Amino acid sequence: MKDYYKILGVAKAASDEEIKKAYRKLAHKYHPDKTGGDEEKFKEINEAYQVLSDKNKRSNYDRFGTAEPFGAQGAQWGPGGPFGGFDFSGFGGGQGFNQDFSFYDAGDMSELFENFFEELGVKPRRRTYERGSDIEILQEITLEEAFRGAARDIKVKTFVTCPDCKGKGGDPSAGSKTCEACGGRGEIREKRQTFFGSFSQIKSCGRCRGSGKIPNKVCEKCKGSGRVNGERKIQVDILPGVQDSQIIKVKGVGEAGELGTPTGDLYVRIKTLPHSIFERRGDDLVVKKEIKVTDLLLGKKIEVPTISGGKMDFEIPAHFNLKEDLRINGEGMPHFGSFGRGDLLVSFIIKAPEKLSTKAKKLLEELGEE
Ligand SMILES: [Zn+2]
Ligand SMILES: [Zn+2]
Repeated sequence: MKDYYKILGVAKAASDEEIKKAYRKLAHKYHPDKTGGDEEKFKEINEAYQVLSDKNKRSNYDRFGTAEPFGAQGAQWGPGGPFGGFDFSGFGGGQGFNQDFSFYDAGDMSELFENFFEELGVKPRRRTYERGSDIEILQEITLEEAFRGAARDIKVKTFVTCPDCKGKGGDPSAGSKTCEACGGRGEIREKRQTFFGSFSQIKSCGRCRGSGKIPNKVCEKCKGSGRVNGERKIQVDILPGVQDSQIIKVKGVGEAGELGTPTGDLYVRIKTLPHSIFERRGDDLVVKKEIKVTDLLLGKKIEVPTISGGKMDFEIPAHFNLKEDLRINGEGMPHFGSFGRGDLLVSFIIKAPEKLSTKAKKLLEELGEE
């Protein structure tokens, strides 16, 4: 668990003003566009600030050690993109397809930071106009698929590059004229009030969509936007051991941007369907097994199904407490992004015979006297 107070260098009782001040100082110091900047540190500072500057998140963090509301599961998604404390970094990487399991998104704060740092004389990353939005979809998989891994063909309805003008918004051979709204700059400067004070903000020009030019011959199919409604077919690799609610990011297959600007990303959130036999507990699997008292007494072999589709049998060790789960090593789910597997836990349900014959009763009574 990260200590957000330590990251910002403030006391636990720090006031909102002190937190803001500490954050501004550190963010300025570590901004990645600055010499001596540190992107990792900058992200960490932002993460800490986003929690400690929010009354609810701070109070949850103080009480439960997490910024999420108590009992909440998985990541939370804000408008316009995912935003949550998820961090799957450090896994795999470079598995062919351009997808990864780590993301960080400052959400609607990023724009604010850019303007903020511009005011401080730190050059922000150039972004003249918008990229396409990110898309989030839910993908259901079975436990077997989570075990083996799966490749899924996913269809997503979204904006795609206009096939007629190839995203240019018009016919380049017919020429273009300078946009009157922005004077050809593609940007419009606006004054904006924020909690850091008053800033002038640069916005993309809506008329020319940030290009600074209006084509003489506007594309009819896309009405000059360079993108149209369409469908993408994407193959997503789901790796063995994937967790429920885990998010797979596939870069560059979200919504197409206007006039050929970069395409957004796709976030696939995994939902594992309940299984009829196994219950997942972390990387362990739990299976319930009914056994008869007599099987137990006679030391009969117990058979249980495995997630790989087979069966295995074993003997219950002597003196084993049947109230506990029996652990079979290495028969659980694969550890995501690393080697090895969890365990299979057998939970016993002891079944007493419903009706004892006179003979059985007598035998048991004799046994009891042994
Ligand atoms: Zn077009
Ligand atoms: Zn313009």
